[in-house]
Amino acid sequence: MKTDLHCHSHFSDGKHSPSFLIKRAEENKITHLAITDHDFMTATTERNSKVQIINGVEISCNWQNREIHVVGIGIDHKNHILKSMLFSQQASRHKRAGKINELLVKAGIDGLVAYLDALKCVSVTRSHVADFLVLSGASKNRQQAFNRFLGKGGRAYVPATWVSLSEANHAISASGGIAVLAHPSRYKLNRSNFNKLIDSFKQAGGSAIEVSYGGIHPNTKRTLEETALKKNLFMSAGSDFHDANAHWTDLGKFPEISNFAKENVIWRHPKWHFS
Ligand code: AMP
Ligand code: MN
Ligand code: MN
Ligand code: MN
Repeated sequence: MKTDLHCHSHFSDGKHSPSFLIKRAEENKITHLAITDHDFMTATTERNSKVQIINGVEISCNWQNREIHVVGIGIDHKNHILKSMLFSQQASRHKRAGKINELLVKAGIDGLVAYLDALKCVSVTRSHVADFLVLSGASKNRQQAFNRFLGKGGRAYVPATWVSLSEANHAISASGGIAVLAHPSRYKLNRSNFNKLIDSFKQAGGSAIEVSYGGIHPNTKRTLEETALKKNLFMSAGSDFHDANAHWTDLGKFPEISNFAKENVIWRHPKWHFS
């Protein structure tokens, strides 16, 4: 069994179609793949694939003035609670994109709306805006686009209004899925806030955390595995793959969960029902 439970298609900020992802997963000998687009449930129509497709989503949440991501694994696309929550997340995304556009226009940068309209995405993310800023020559690269414009302190920064951790966890659970705290080491938290986040997430009904992802340092992975064991959380892992042109990432490219931690892997979760 080789799983990848976190990646993105062109329905959010990934560069490729779901079929491309599934083909690449087959090539990379992945047995179980979850496409986890930002605030959108991507449906696949692939039949006869060797890869088992697990329905997924990555939900943006606000927690203590920060943006925290929660992945839902094995969700039901038809669930009304989840659908209506994601509908309001989409509304927040569109509202924020409009405000970002206003700030960019004030800075003399025109054309974001037309750029976004021509894309395949449903979920408009700041990554798309960053690509636009690079393409229009306003920024040298994505990182500079975030530093100068889109990140906290940037001149087109617009704080987003997302759901809370408990709203996200509740909607995921209500739809039969497993709520997973995404990439816990990427939030730049000190030890005390890191522990607070893990506890808040658990209290809010979450039951798993990602302990391995693309580019993770072995020490970080170990800390996350130890945390999951200590806090009785299940462990998930995924590449967070977005783009085949970013050669350092790929589907299935992330370190395996350590043997000492395997008793808590996500496929032992009572809600995991995939063969
Ligand atoms: P959004 O959900 O629209 O706020 O967009 C978030 C996405 O933007 C994340 O999933 C990252 O891929 C990307 N992102 C956020 N902050 C940065 C940053 N400082 N540098 C580069 N990419 C970033
Ligand atoms: Mn992304
Ligand atoms: Mn994320
Ligand atoms: Mn992601």
